[in-house]
Amino acid sequence: MRPDSLPAFFPDRARIAVLTVEPVGVLDYLAPEDGVRQGQLVLVPLGPRRVLGLVWGEGVGDFDLAKLRPVARVLDAEPFQPGFLDFLTRAADYTLTALPLMLRMATRAPDLDQPPAARRVIVPAGDPPPRMTEARQRVMQVMADHGGASFAPSELAQLAGVGTAVVKGLVSAGTLAEILAPRDLPYPRLDPSLPGKPLAADQQAAADDLRQAIRGGGYGTTLLRGVTGSGKTEVYLEAVAECLRAGRQALVLLPEIALSAEFLSRVEARFGERPGEWHSGVTRAERRRLWHMAGRGEVGMVVGARSALFLPFRDLGLIVVDEEHDSSYKQEDVVYYNARDMAVLRASISKAQVVLASATPSLESWVNAASGKYRRLDLRSRYGQAELPDMAAIDLRAEDMPLGRWISPALASAVDARLEKGQQSLLFLNRRGFAPVTVCRACGEQIACHQCDARMVEHRFQNRLVCHQCGETRPIPTACPSCQVEGKLAAIGPGVERIAEEVAARFPNAKATVLSSDLFHSARALKDTIAEISDGDTDIIIGTQIVAKGHNFPRLSLVGVIDADLGLQGADLRAAERSFQLMRQVAGRAGRHAGKAPGVAMLQTHQPDHPVIRAILSGEDEAFWNAEAGARQVTGMPPFGRLAGIILSHPDLGVVSDFARHLAAHAQPLRDAGAELWGPAPAPIARVRGRHRVRLLIHAPRQAAVQSAIADWLAPHKPPTNLRLSVDIDPQSFL
Ligand code: ADP
Ligand code: ZN
Repeated sequence: MRPDSLPAFFPDRARIAVLTVEPVGVLDYLAPEDGVRQGQLVLVPLGPRRVLGLVWGEGVGDFDLAKLRPVARVLDAEPFQPGFLDFLTRAADYTLTALPLMLRMATRAPDLDQPPAARRVIVPAGDPPPRMTEARQRVMQVMADHGGASFAPSELAQLAGVGTAVVKGLVSAGTLAEILAPRDLPYPRLDPSLPGKPLAADQQAAADDLRQAIRGGGYGTTLLRGVTGSGKTEVYLEAVAECLRAGRQALVLLPEIALSAEFLSRVEARFGERPGEWHSGVTRAERRRLWHMAGRGEVGMVVGARSALFLPFRDLGLIVVDEEHDSSYKQEDVVYYNARDMAVLRASISKAQVVLASATPSLESWVNAASGKYRRLDLRSRYGQAELPDMAAIDLRAEDMPLGRWISPALASAVDARLEKGQQSLLFLNRRGFAPVTVCRACGEQIACHQCDARMVEHRFQNRLVCHQCGETRPIPTACPSCQVEGKLAAIGPGVERIAEEVAARFPNAKATVLSSDLFHSARALKDTIAEISDGDTDIIIGTQIVAKGHNFPRLSLVGVIDADLGLQGADLRAAERSFQLMRQVAGRAGRHAGKAPGVAMLQTHQPDHPVIRAILSGEDEAFWNAEAGARQVTGMPPFGRLAGIILSHPDLGVVSDFARHLAAHAQPLRDAGAELWGPAPAPIARVRGRHRVRLLIHAPRQAAVQSAIADWLAPHKPPTNLRLSVDIDPQSFL
């Protein structure tokens, strides 16, 4: 879609259809006096209220024209492009989401109904104050973190966790100033003509290929594969440069956006300015500004979390999905969608290029590249001399492991060797907390959550039991809640906190740091700790999967995986794939650096002959993917067949089971489309927050029209009050 094709215009009192954000969806209204364009945002009366809506097209209803109500107000925002409306419609069809919910996703910016008037903001103004308190320091830190952005006074105080008086004090001291600033300024232009780094041969070839695709101006998807450190980012920044040169907008999606400070400075070094940022950590004013500037084409590059895909870009020419295999691209709440797949959909509509970058691509993308649907570019070596780590298994069956110990003698001596050389070790265990199970040795009771079918996990640092499903916490009891016997409760199995305890006992002189998402109250605190580790301020890092994501630890030369078997269990379709990706990513943390001896990754396992463990050790990715693809093809599983999950929940088990059986008994529309229905079955986590959950699974051949079959099947059956029904097309998790 080109921005110059003007959308339809509706003159005064024309009958128009408006898509509202309310469940009623599309309703007819009268165009306002000055007329309105398709794609414009409006406020329309609905009963006694005014609600947000989008001019969808010509009105269709036969409701008496004289009784139609006029649009109340046209908002001061760029109209959505017809291609964007098309995208929202097709995304809604694909995910079986109601259109009003899609519109909500596309309008998630604050104060859209307010004009771009000036507002009072705090900006940096002068020297640090003569008296620097801890509270003042925090305010200054927030300003620094946001690269000179401006804040409303109350917002700044809130982000810094201080009272507004502290901010006012800094204004009186002349360090900060309160000014009237216009809202919604365009972003400074990134300069694509600044030189990039000189590229290695394979990087150059990949960059040329992408540049050419972008110059062609059509749609295409490329899988850019290369181990961590091979220079994928360097290559796709060249694609961004080409897109900017073509005068179009570029979007880079990252999984852990809060941790992208390093990335933003790289962009700044390459293009002279920072890109627009879109994620939960940016200020309200910036969100609003970015939303408007995306629509006006006044921001060239946006770096964002998955929801940035629903910004109303004026002319999107490139979407990069970095770490495309990452499960955080799948949203499983209200609207179930995979940002990777929706990026491909959006690009195909707006004639844009997609780059899917990963060291360990998803099986879906691998198959699409193998079949020629996507192009594939490989970066074969690490940039410079840095090498992949050596991989080895530690066979736990052959190790002497005392009860309640999880670090084998072989792994421990490898850590000792690193300590002697002043290098870092990382011990990886993908389990938060101290112990996953608390059991009473008197009666056998396992302490469970009151609201969920889940065991409470002991978090010793917080001194509480925590339910990882619903977040409920309670103090760690001294007596068994079931038999009341004192002092018989025992923590079973390891979590990272317990490994930390073992590390403290086994390596008393080493400095250890635990990296686990629950131990940091803010993204800021986590960032600081990661920076400290990078600077070498820790000997042993003990971490959950947050360590697997793109951080750079120069002194790290050993990765020890405490339980490589953990992800192999369970009936999850993607257990092998996930395990493979995670182990590979974690192992990739070791020995990233040029000029140093390659690092070592050691996997503790009870099954060194398991095919997944062997594939990880041998480094033969293609063989692994071939085998995994073959297994899925035989069973008709994704991406060779299709799955859709239906999750029903209700406080009463009888109600939800009856309705699920009722749906299953009327599944002819599914069978007519060639699909089969499995279930109903209690979901693996059968109760969450007091709601009983039942799952149905639909399995269909690849070509089947699953979405319309599901819609036809569900339409005639009205769910009982308070029953929630979600449809998850291409489910990633089966909980
Ligand atoms: P990936 O995205 O594949 O993990 P990066 O693009 O982050 O790899 O590159 C890894 C490191 O190597 C980065 O510090 C990057 O700046 C550096 N690097 C990559 N390619 C080059 C190059 N051609 N010239 C100089 N440094 C490079
Ligand atoms: Zn719970």
